[in-house]
Amino acid sequence: MRMVFLGPPGAGKGTIAASAKEYYGIPHISTGDLFRSNIKNETELGLQVKSILASGGLVPDSVTIEMVRNRIAEPDCKNGFILDGFPRTIPQADALAEMTDLDAVVDFQIPKEEVVKRLSGRRMCPSSGRIYHVIFNPPKVDGKDDETGEDLIQRPDDKEEAIMHRLEVYTEQTEPLIKYYRDKGLIKEIDASVKPSEVFELLKQSLC
Ligand code: AMP
Repeated sequence: MRMVFLGPPGAGKGTIAASAKEYYGIPHISTGDLFRSNIKNETELGLQVKSILASGGLVPDSVTIEMVRNRIAEPDCKNGFILDGFPRTIPQADALAEMTDLDAVVDFQIPKEEVVKRLSGRRMCPSSGRIYHVIFNPPKVDGKDDETGEDLIQRPDDKEEAIMHRLEVYTEQTEPLIKYYRDKGLIKEIDASVKPSEVFELLKQSLC
């Protein structure tokens, strides 16, 4: 199963992908996580993209496309993958079409006001990428990861100003992909405003 998860930041794509990767036995490839791990490890790519991520802007297509091309060529992707956060622009979608066929593009639908609420309360475990929310999905111990006990962080791009910018970028550059993939007959729309367990059920039904 080769899938793309599309939808605004904060729609829950990463949370649902964590369950879907186990269920379908395919890797979860989040371009955001790949960039963040490069930043953490202070690689050349990480240094190049750090300020772009902090501002909520998009990394140039050429850089992002090459990173994904290399990742999906790895052996664990031979039976499929979940792409989360890629493509985000029409040129990225065109490049992906040259790399591989897709089975489904899932559009996680959620009102933009809900996104702001979700993102501003989101907290993350920096090493595993595990995601929490101060109100909707709190950790067992305040501020600590459930498994490792590490301090949770707020992503710099989950601060209010960056959230607004990310939403503008989504509306201008990524939302047009819904029509792009609808025209190809690949879009599956699901309601992402309900609880994660319900969203996951909707996902499974829509992919039957
Ligand atoms: P995410 O974790 O998907 O919200 O991505 C975090 C940030 O990584 C985005 O705000 C962008 O700065 C960058 N990023 C992730 N995926 C892409 C992409 N497909 N194209 C360009 N930039 C990206």
